Amino acid sequence: MPCYRCGVRQTDPVRGASPWRRGVRRETQVLICPTCQREHDLDLDHCESCGSTTLICRLGEVECRSCGAVRSARTDRPTDPATLVSAGAPGLSEEVAAALTRVLGRHPTP
Ligand SMILES: [Zn+2]
Ligand SMILES: [Zn+2]
Repeated sequence: MPCYRCGVRQTDPVRGASPWRRGVRRETQVLICPTCQREHDLDLDHCESCGSTTLICRLGEVECRSCGAVRSARTDRPTDPATLVSAGAPGLSEEVAAALTRVLGRHPTP
């Protein structure tokens, strides 16, 4: 994963912990390179409880590594169309049934 801000690629740490930092920005897990960590306009999400930016984003929730507060990610973004289809969008089953009827009508089973 490259740095979200400048796009530089992470290199393997020589020894010990990576100087790269993880954070959450607009509820997306991001990596920040050592250079960009010195900037003050990182625009990272903050913990609503303690204000820390050491957050991790998991499926549908954001957890604070500092105080442990967990909040669910906002759901104000448009739903993925693929989710609607797998959930059984209205009209789809009728279409499938009609298609099956056409196929079965041409090739009647004995
Ligand atoms: Zn960077
Ligand atoms: Zn916190």
